[in-house]
Amino acid sequence: MADLIETRDLIKAYALGEVMVQALRGVSITIERGSFVAIMGPSGSGKSTLMNILGCLDRPTSGRYFLNGVPVEGLDRDQLAEIRNRKVGFVFQNFNLLTRMTALENVQLPLLYRNSEPDDADELGRKVLEQVGLAGRENSLPTRLSGGEQQRLAIARALIGEPEILLADEPTGQLDSHTGEEIMRIFSRLNQTRQITVIVVTHAEEVARFARRIIRFRDGRIAADERNAVPAGDAEPAAEVLP
Ligand code: ADP
Ligand code: MG
Repeated sequence: MADLIETRDLIKAYALGEVMVQALRGVSITIERGSFVAIMGPSGSGKSTLMNILGCLDRPTSGRYFLNGVPVEGLDRDQLAEIRNRKVGFVFQNFNLLTRMTALENVQLPLLYRNSEPDDADELGRKVLEQVGLAGRENSLPTRLSGGEQQRLAIARALIGEPEILLADEPTGQLDSHTGEEIMRIFSRLNQTRQITVIVVTHAEEVARFARRIIRFRDGRIAADERNAVPAGDAEPAAEVLP
């Protein structure tokens, strides 16, 4: 079977007025199904650009991207939308929640972008809230939740499409270190118990240590690709595993 993610020599150039900015300068990576990867590197090194391409939110200037062996450049708009809605879940630094909607409504948002909303939308919403420890908070507005709870809500929203891949761009960037660890434990659990492939961008070594593999970026290129033999989340007792 093909690798889940394979990129070959990805290049992304942005026109900034007269100047071309090279955000990616030839990135070739392979990520297997079930991986837990951290992407590190200084600000401006191309991490978000790569994440956006992996999530089919953006296209490279050149180079190839195979998702499950399928070349993404050959997909049409509908197929790309389907990938963003079903295959990939996104989590961002600033949570991106709708403040006037309840927790349950927020997690159900991705369902609105489907051709037909499922009959069991409420059940699905409650299930994903429970998976991130927010059972009972269905009717809370995001503004009544702590930062950690808001990010858990954003993770629940990412989970509602039962994605194969979770892409998180600096998900702990606005959280204190303790809360950041809680978020990383959730990713770790989703990776271990559901075999969801998790890719997390972070600046912090203590966040990256939860991953099994750490890819370091510099100036739009991969500078290092390391295995982490003892990821932090592995020491968790089985009792912490959610259904
Ligand atoms: P990182 O996430 O590692 O901080 P980014 O991928 O956001 O880095 O950015 C890489 C480079 O590309 C930076 O120099 C950034 O300024 C530039 N860049 C990113 N997005 C755009 C854009 N939409 N237009 C112009 N330049 C961009
Ligand atoms: Mg970034």
